Amino acid sequence: MSAGGIKPARPFPAAARDTLGNAQMRRNLRHATTTIREKRQRAVDELPNWEALRDEAAALKDHVMAHLSEYLLELEASVQARGGQVHWARTAQEARSIVAALAQRHGAQEVIKVKSISTDEIELNAGLAAHGIHAIETDLAELIVQLAEDQPSHILVPAIHRNRAEIRELFQRKLGAELLTDDPKALADAARTYLREKFLSTTVAVSGANFAVAETGTVCVVESEGNGRMCLTMPDVLISVMGIEKVLPTWQDLAVFLRVLPRSSTAERMNPYTSFWSGVTPGDGPQEFHLVLLDNGRTDVLADDVGRQTLRCIRCSACLNVCPVYERTGGHAYGSVYPGPIGAILTPQLLQLEDENANTLPWASSLCGACYDACPVKINIPEVLLYLRGQISDAQPPSVQAAAFKVAAWVMSEPHRFEGAIKLARTGQGPLVKHGAIHALPGLLAGWTASRDLPAFPRQTFREWWRQRPAAQEHGPDRPEDTSETAGNAWEPL
Ligand code: SF4
Repeated sequence: MSAGGIKPARPFPAAARDTLGNAQMRRNLRHATTTIREKRQRAVDELPNWEALRDEAAALKDHVMAHLSEYLLELEASVQARGGQVHWARTAQEARSIVAALAQRHGAQEVIKVKSISTDEIELNAGLAAHGIHAIETDLAELIVQLAEDQPSHILVPAIHRNRAEIRELFQRKLGAELLTDDPKALADAARTYLREKFLSTTVAVSGANFAVAETGTVCVVESEGNGRMCLTMPDVLISVMGIEKVLPTWQDLAVFLRVLPRSSTAERMNPYTSFWSGVTPGDGPQEFHLVLLDNGRTDVLADDVGRQTLRCIRCSACLNVCPVYERTGGHAYGSVYPGPIGAILTPQLLQLEDENANTLPWASSLCGACYDACPVKINIPEVLLYLRGQISDAQPPSVQAAAFKVAAWVMSEPHRFEGAIKLARTGQGPLVKHGAIHALPGLLAGWTASRDLPAFPRQTFREWWRQRPAAQEHGPDRPEDTSETAGNAWEPL
């Protein structure tokens, strides 16, 4: 199954330890993210008004969030006016049940799927399987993940952790394809042969939605391969599952996002396929259309003043491709269908900070800020990360670590205390120092040296050295002369 849901099975540090050991995966990832990072930068640099577009996209999303209920009701009325049906799902379970009941009503044993992270979020494939319905992924990367009984590891390229040789072996084994090479064209042809038969024989399709325009009830999917277009036009019944934050007021608003999304995600000026559908059209395309509006924790995120900006996300994946943590650990370490920086803030919030494994995700960041710079809707991911860390820490019972930090804060808040502590540590470190470093601290401090060395405390600190200088004897021990290099700089105790 390609669908993995959003509840991590393990805390991030434990999962990351395992994925860090997979050298092949790290090589595949580094190659893929480096390539797409450079291409995205070139595509973005072409636009002189890129920053203005980001501002506009962020402001539009904020406006939608401030009036979400109004636009959702308008969307519902517009879809119904054009012959579509709207279903409201508060939870993943409700959404799964709605889709399964609709598929069953049409006697479907198989459904074809457009790549959709919201259906992965609700574990739709497993939900349908429980009713004896097989969901067939039609996006090439999703198909690879499904055939490999793997989990997606990237929002845009779910099989980013696999290379061509692995895919060739998989297609030979699972599709019976006779592939002599791992040439991309040969791999795509093998998938096409398999999928074409499914497109022609399956009557129910399930999609997600990138956007929906409230004024006309139009739903929109953007994609690169055309498989989505086949699913959206060929079957008799189309069921679209959409997070409630995807609504936009007008087509003019949509135009902004159709400019920022492709450049941020695939580094293209325009994505190859943009499909729109509004209700049903007699004699053309699916004759029954259902739109499932999914909450699944989103209204709780909306209610939070700081966390709310997370709902601006258009799932472009630019933040993943620039994240040094994601590049090294890979998507599986996040344990959710939302990996990388956006996953580190979205997953715990969707779970209302109640899941102890998801609550480790806000620490899966170096806070370098690259994700904020790359985000086309200007989500201040570092700000939300720190905010969530604070919330999670405050909710935890006092720990030994918290007490230790309090003591450290007390020691460091006064120079004489700090100096005294350094002297103490210098005297006591003797037996622990080997080759100029401390490789293993004892007792409660052992965690600090579990994965790194601590430099030995020097024989003399900078302040001690400073005081010994002749100039210091003349001008006072604690403050350097106000030279051109130091003038105006704050002098911090060392
Ligand atoms: S947080 Fe921003 S950069 Fe990351 S996927 Fe969402 S929109 Fe893209």
